[in-house]
Formats: sequence, C-alpha cells, structure tokens
Amino acid sequence: MVEHQIKARGIHNKKLLDSFLKVERHFFVPESMISYAYEDGPLGIGKGQTISQPYMVAIMIDLLDLKEDDVVLEIGTGSGYQTALLAEMAKKIYSIERIESLAISAQKLLKNLGYNNIFIQVGDGTMGWQNRQEDKSYKKVIKFNAIIISAAAPEIPEKLVEQLSEGGRMVLPYGKHFSQELLRITKKRGKIKKENFGGCMFVPLIGQYGWKE
Ligand code: SAM
Repeated sequence: MVEHQIKARGIHNKKLLDSFLKVERHFFVPESMISYAYEDGPLGIGKGQTISQPYMVAIMIDLLDLKEDDVVLEIGTGSGYQTALLAEMAKKIYSIERIESLAISAQKLLKNLGYNNIFIQVGDGTMGWQNRQEDKSYKKVIKFNAIIISAAAPEIPEKLVEQLSEGGRMVLPYGKHFSQELLRITKKRGKIKKENFGGCMFVPLIGQYGWKE
C-alpha cells in the first residue's frame, strides 16, 4: 500500500510514510472488510460512513505540514485510522465525531493501541472544539496549529477558522454533495490564503456550518 499507492504517487514525507507503515489499517475496518484493508479505495465502516482512501488521507496529512509539537483538530473521527496517523505525527490530537457509536469504538481501539495523545468528543465539529468539563477527555484548548476536515463542506466553517492559530493550516474537501475540491487554508496576520489541490469526493459534513441532515 505504501509503496504503490502513496510513494509511487509522489508523497515522500518520511515521517508520514513511516506512520503509514506503523499504523495497521486492518484494525480500523469491519471484520467483513479485513481482506480489502490495504486496497486503493475507501471502505464502508457502518452508519453510512467510510474510512477514506489511504492516498487521500496521505495527501491531506502531507498538506497540513505538521511539526511534532503541533496540536491538531480533526473533524470526522470515523474509524480512527487517520486519527492514529496524526497522533504519530503531532503532539496532541483533538477529534470530533457526530456519530456516537463510531466515536466510542474509535476511542476504545485507539486506547487499546496505546495512544494517549488523542482526545475524542461527540458533537458537531463545524462548531469547533467545545471545552466541556464533563467530558472524560476534558482539556481546555483554544487554538490549533492544524485542522483537518474529513467530510465534504459546503462552506468554510467560520468557527474553525477562529480556532486556527496564527500560521495555522486547515485542509478540507470543499464544494457540492458529490464533487469537491481539496483546499488548504492558511491563516497569516488574521488573513486567509486559499490553495486548491484538485478534485475529490467525500461523505457530507453535517452540521450548523455544513449540510443539513
Ligand atoms: N478519517 C476517517 C477515518 O480514517 O476513518 C474517515 C472519516 S469519514 C470519511 C467522515 C466522518 O465525518 C464520518 O464518520 C461522519 O460521521 C463525520 N462527520 C460528518 N459531519 C460531521 C460533523 N459535523 N462533526 C463531526 N463529524 C462529522
């Protein structure tokens, strides 16, 4: 998977490639999908959701330009696969998933795999990370060095732009229901720069600043 789907398509970030070699994708797919776990595409994970294509996960993480001290916000935990890769690359990962059962199984799995730098919250990620004291994983956070949205957004969620730190990078699929463009937003002196990295297709981001249910 790493040689043929990721490296061969031009991703050479060593830390990222090492993370892909370390995090085993078959742990994150349903039992019935294990034999397809290293194939070149998305797979169903239940509740109408998907674990994204490995190459798409690789491009998005690469575009985040992560440093090991970075604090990252992920919207759409899904299976937790991308969360684990991010946890190999940065200091702390905060992840929001709107479907409770997916959040619970990802949290269990990631804990069993030994990750202790991941905090998962159930809710509408378009509203940003909520500092809720009642959360088991309560940690007060205000700004993130990087934000990754793994579902298709019809607009750039303003709460997430607010939670991006100065110099911060946000990567998201932006556009219509069945076709989007992969965007990177960079925040510099309070201003936003947008770069377009081509077409992609994701499940919808559902929420206040996303698609309506
Ligand atoms: N990166 C994930 C993985 O490795 O398995 C796959 C993410 S999947 C393509 C998109 C996820 O975003 C789904 O689990 C979906 O429930 C979630 N989602 C959609 N809208 C959301 C929202 N507003 N807040 C949080 N999660 C959301």
